[in-house]
Amino acid sequence: MSSFSLDVMEKTDQKIIVKFKNVPRQYVNSIRRISISEVPTCTIDDVVMLENSSVMHDEAIAHRLGLIPLRTELNKFIFSSDCDCNNTLGCTKCRVLLILNAESIDKTRVVTSGELISDSEYVKPVSNEIPIIVLAPGQKLKFEAYARLGIGKDHAKWQPTSVAVVKDGENSDESILILETTGALSAEEVLKSALNIINKKLDDFGKLIKSLESSVPPAR
Ligand SMILES: [Zn+2]
Repeated sequence: MSSFSLDVMEKTDQKIIVKFKNVPRQYVNSIRRISISEVPTCTIDDVVMLENSSVMHDEAIAHRLGLIPLRTELNKFIFSSDCDCNNTLGCTKCRVLLILNAESIDKTRVVTSGELISDSEYVKPVSNEIPIIVLAPGQKLKFEAYARLGIGKDHAKWQPTSVAVVKDGENSDESILILETTGALSAEEVLKSALNIINKKLDDFGKLIKSLESSVPPAR
């Protein structure tokens, strides 16, 4: 059997292309699927509206906020389900608070993600230019938004990838994995996290197989 090999063909902060040689397609595909659905990011998932005199409903604003990619330092946070704070809104270990306090005084203006103030230096909008709402003179928008770690399997807004595909290479024994990110994580972080998750799954599966082997009674 020919040996496995891989080659990083292109790598930028938000994109990575890896060529796998002699690796079964379903293995490469599992990296793709885990990248989309199980690598966590921090995303706004609860909004406490304090004042909203804009034309948009609270729910529509909350939905839009969930789509703003937040740069996430994964090792600084834990899942709220794993946290011992028992606080509905969470604590500094399991959530980030982003505050917005915007109004329009004399002319219609666009409020952007750059006006969100994060209480954590580790989680901030990927871009300051993402429009949140248009405010007409006299309108105000004020809220507290809570971002938490989550995974794409639970809701697409937590997906770290904007593109995740596997395609054929030039030769029949090659597969090409292309990952592009929303900016919440770097492409390298997404790939490494996916590989860690797969390793953990294989490890658990290996233990299960061992325990099965030892618990199967000898044939009579
Ligand atoms: Zn907590």
